[in-house]
Amino acid sequence: MPEHLSNEQLIHAANEFGTPLYVYQAEKIKEQYQKLAKAFSILDTKFFYASKALTNINILRYIKEIGGNVDCSSINEVKLALHAGFEPQKILYTSNGIAFSEIEEAVTAGVHINIDSLSNLEKFGKKYGHSYPVGIRIRPNIMAGGNLKISTGHDTSKFGIPVSQLDKIEEVVKATGLFIRTLHIHTGSDIKDPEVFVKGIEVLFELIPHFPELEVIDLGGGFKVPYKPGEKETDVELLAKKIKETFDNHPMAGYPEKTGTGKKFQLWFEPGKFLVSACGYLLAQVTVIKDTGPIVFAAVDSGLNHLVRPMMYDAYHHIENISNPAGEPKVYTVTGNICETDTFAADRSLPEIREGDYLAFYNAGAYGFEMASNYNSRFKPAEVMIKNNQALLIRKRDEFDDLLNNQVEITGFIN
Ligand SMILES: *Cc1c(COP(=O)(O)O)cnc(C)c1O
Repeated sequence: MPEHLSNEQLIHAANEFGTPLYVYQAEKIKEQYQKLAKAFSILDTKFFYASKALTNINILRYIKEIGGNVDCSSINEVKLALHAGFEPQKILYTSNGIAFSEIEEAVTAGVHINIDSLSNLEKFGKKYGHSYPVGIRIRPNIMAGGNLKISTGHDTSKFGIPVSQLDKIEEVVKATGLFIRTLHIHTGSDIKDPEVFVKGIEVLFELIPHFPELEVIDLGGGFKVPYKPGEKETDVELLAKKIKETFDNHPMAGYPEKTGTGKKFQLWFEPGKFLVSACGYLLAQVTVIKDTGPIVFAAVDSGLNHLVRPMMYDAYHHIENISNPAGEPKVYTVTGNICETDTFAADRSLPEIREGDYLAFYNAGAYGFEMASNYNSRFKPAEVMIKNNQALLIRKRDEFDDLLNNQVEITGFIN
């Protein structure tokens, strides 16, 4: 299995389907999934793919084919997962800030639910009492993740119920008879250090005595993937060993067969990036080379409307000039064509870029297409999946009518 799609495969896809184009390599998703599954086979673990990273229905079906479950961030993602054929027990809805009516819909659908506010927990308890097992998202007050914008577990984050409000959680549980099956944390994205997960577990372990019906410890997602050449992803084997150790060393969580005491908790994860980041490429064609003296700009037929991560998170995306890989290296600032500063890369050394060349942006699978918009009334890109060396269109490029779709053209009101 190739580590990456070859330049030839990418150029072939760009020629066949046009640019800008998202291309996903199915086998790479499988490789990442199996890496996790193998590493964590030493524990009773389930993986729920955080589908907000990439929700194309064919990607969801592929995740299903390779044995994954799905984590959802909205009721529509729950509906997409059902549409993709996942059984309700393979779907998890980790909500935040949502109306209670969405939680009711999730109950009707029969999926797992993690609740992240005292307010919704209380409403849930009043309506369902002990009849529907539920999870609580805890804010562990830990700072972790690649940068503040993608950190979610610290003590000013909106996510989860602060661990310091345990007494209030207990009050609600006691008053309503809630069945608390899961404790959940998700502390952020791009976390390389296994100790962060260990710290999170330790916070949750403190809570175990307070929830006698607990069955699941859900540690969320956030595994790091390499964006820059030479970077390393989270060592999931080491992580699995450390987590097992942490479980084994805890008097109430140690696996019964090992300690003779304790309870066998199931471990859940919600990997997004780890599964789909590296499988994806955004292919764009160079439209203009503009030599301004100190800076040579290379503009492409895409922009922050298609891949917002560089502008939104200062994210680094590796770029290859797949049309001229052996060209002489020069320094470029690669931008898009949007009326807004949309720098993909500043002062980046790349093989000589000529107008018409194709550039490939790596690691575009996670939070790439998914965050795309029609800003500047540009079309969203097409998406292609390559599986068994066969490239298939999995989303058509927008057309002009898509820009007018859902707009109501009023007559007799505006002349
Ligand atoms: C976004 C999210 C994830 C996935 O995060 P990655 O960094 O993509 O692994 C997992 N769980 C929850 C609750 C999330 O919001």
